[in-house]
Amino acid sequence: MTLHVLRAFCLAAMFATAIAAAQPEAWRPSFPATIDSHTWLDTHRRLCFGVDGTSLDEVIDAGSNVICGGTNAAGIGFAGGPFILGREGEFVDIMTGVPIPAPTLAELRSRVDAAHARGVKVLGEVIRFNMTPWMQAEHPEWQEINSPGGKPITVEELKDLHVLGCWNSPYGDWFIKSQVELVKQLDWDGYNMDGFGCWAQCFCPSCTAAYTADCGHAIPAVRDVNSAEYRHYLKWRLARYTGFVARWTAALKAVKPDFVTAPWTTGPGRWWHWMGAPAAEGTDAMHRVLDAPFLELLWDFPADQGSNLLPAFTCRYYRGLCGDRPAWILPYLCEQGQFNMQPPRAECDLREMTVLTNGCIPAQGRWQQNADTPLAHLNALVEEREPFTRDARSLKWAAMFVGESSRLLYGLPGARTEVPLGAWIGSGVDTPDIGKLEPGERRMPAHMESAVGVFRAMMEDHLPLDIVIEPDLEDPETLQQYKVLILPNAACLSDKATATIRAFVKAGGGLVAMHESSICDEFGDRREDFSLADVFGAHHRGTEDFSARWPNYPKWTELYLGIAGRDLHPISDDAVVRSNYRSGSDRLQYIGWMTNVDVAAGATKLGRRLSAPVEWPFIVLNEPAAGRSVYVAADLGQAYFLAPYQYQRRLISNAVRWAATTPPPVTVSAPLCVQAAFYTQADGRRTVVHLLNEVNTSANRAIPENNPPQREETLPIAGINVAVAGEAITAAFAEPGHLSLPLTKTPGGFVVTLPRLDTHAMIVFEE
Ligand SMILES: [Zn+2]
Repeated sequence: MTLHVLRAFCLAAMFATAIAAAQPEAWRPSFPATIDSHTWLDTHRRLCFGVDGTSLDEVIDAGSNVICGGTNAAGIGFAGGPFILGREGEFVDIMTGVPIPAPTLAELRSRVDAAHARGVKVLGEVIRFNMTPWMQAEHPEWQEINSPGGKPITVEELKDLHVLGCWNSPYGDWFIKSQVELVKQLDWDGYNMDGFGCWAQCFCPSCTAAYTADCGHAIPAVRDVNSAEYRHYLKWRLARYTGFVARWTAALKAVKPDFVTAPWTTGPGRWWHWMGAPAAEGTDAMHRVLDAPFLELLWDFPADQGSNLLPAFTCRYYRGLCGDRPAWILPYLCEQGQFNMQPPRAECDLREMTVLTNGCIPAQGRWQQNADTPLAHLNALVEEREPFTRDARSLKWAAMFVGESSRLLYGLPGARTEVPLGAWIGSGVDTPDIGKLEPGERRMPAHMESAVGVFRAMMEDHLPLDIVIEPDLEDPETLQQYKVLILPNAACLSDKATATIRAFVKAGGGLVAMHESSICDEFGDRREDFSLADVFGAHHRGTEDFSARWPNYPKWTELYLGIAGRDLHPISDDAVVRSNYRSGSDRLQYIGWMTNVDVAAGATKLGRRLSAPVEWPFIVLNEPAAGRSVYVAADLGQAYFLAPYQYQRRLISNAVRWAATTPPPVTVSAPLCVQAAFYTQADGRRTVVHLLNEVNTSANRAIPENNPPQREETLPIAGINVAVAGEAITAAFAEPGHLSLPLTKTPGGFVVTLPRLDTHAMIVFEE
């Protein structure tokens, strides 16, 4: 290099450095650490809502050991109410500003003391972020402003208009201060709050200044996920809320280290949380800084109103949101969706055990009982299982990624804003249904439909499956616990996440990815090609729509996977796949979205779409370094949820098995209607296999959109085999009941047989 060239090079380098320094690094989300999970929840988790001063002893006698009054704080409850600190440090009614009389607070405190005297814990009812009169007068700038240029209302107007304070303004600090004071004065052990959430846009001075400081822009006026500006803003807003929740939790734990934060984190659990942006309500990562997020669980909401699939998926999803810790879930024991009539006991039991099987804690409502199904019965179901659910960790084999960005920002191809802000789908019972689509046509975001389909396949083939979220994919230690990662059309992945996945596969991990996984970054900005193209061994060239709903099939397609010889592969060489071929045919039909991809050098094509003029690959196998990747050029998960064929289940589960390389350590041989979930306790020395019998003897005769069929009886299943690998097991029991199960030696370990499964049982293997 000559001196002249060297100088020019140095100048260019200096110039480039100057430019880089002038432009701050673009803002991107980061995630807080998961809080320590050990609180009084280790010993107290049988919560009952709807308790008042007169029914306290009754619910404790029925086995409840955590008490909460109402499911919201609209009025004075058991231990809380619509309270916020007044200007002088006294508690006032948040709506009227009238001071709370001392005898009222004394009465609440005496109920908490009475509960404590009987050894039970109390969640105080917390009101949402409403503005209060003194604040509206002195700090109108703390009010949430929902449109650009919007002005705060007057104190006079506040009498009729319930506006919110902005949690991102000093209102948020005042709110936290109020919560701390309530805990000190009323001695709560935890809180429950309805109306918890960040919502999408606020143009108050605090939000405007914070966004400009972090990102250098004004908050966009548009509210549309098709706008990149809005998508970037939304991720910022969500991360900001996670930070607020973390501060709030920390402030309460500074008063009581084992205080339990348990707000309703989605409102309410009618799949709305999944409907995609712009109406984002909360963040995935906030669940990591809460002790036991609450969810209402319903059994009658679109897109599948007739089965136990979506409720089961929801519980597993919340377990994942919490980072392998349980969420608290209130199963709605209702008929016709939300009508308050008691379902038969067999149905109540199934709902409670669906929550428990999938790793969450069922909560009770005092109004949800009768002589057939008393509160004591529901509490007993949970209590006799507690020795095997306490401190349980999921068995780490397969992880499925379910991502906030893919859910909110990728949406349905061509229809990203299916549910406009405010236009949520009501229940039709307590809220009007204003969804624009017929129930049978209603959809969740494409990524969620894909995840539900994969969950169904894994559940029916009884494979262990955890759900992981965005913070987990950016943390190599979390990913390394698993043998295989599944990306169910996980379109939106950050560069950091794809780097972690790439390293995971190169180090020997397995990957199963579908459709447009990694085509966008975490802001939903599309890339030229898959970020993981090198891992998939496939390059993105486009997508094609072969989806259909009865009775319109405008365009469908067929596949060739091979029925003999060299074309067969362990993924497709399967009795269930073979059962779908007609005599003399080697074709399989497919309804759903597909991807057009080119196969990279070194990767292998498995099967093809029978289309003209190009026969695109169906599956691409790649083995970068030590690991295995299966890329499916179709949204096979979504297809198995929306327009399923049996062969699709086995393609999904066989792909997961092949990519994982090693089989799961526990295997269950049971009918498709049995759900299995796998946990360990005592540092892995105990393995607990939950078995849930979902059979419905009413044979699904009720039409699914009007009263999903309710179980009236249990049809026991005999002879379920559970095999465990290795030599270390010394005993096995069926719980509850502590029935000893004889261990039969097999070449690789032991097998036991459960003589009879009623609604739910656990097979417990002890080393
Ligand atoms: Zn604001």
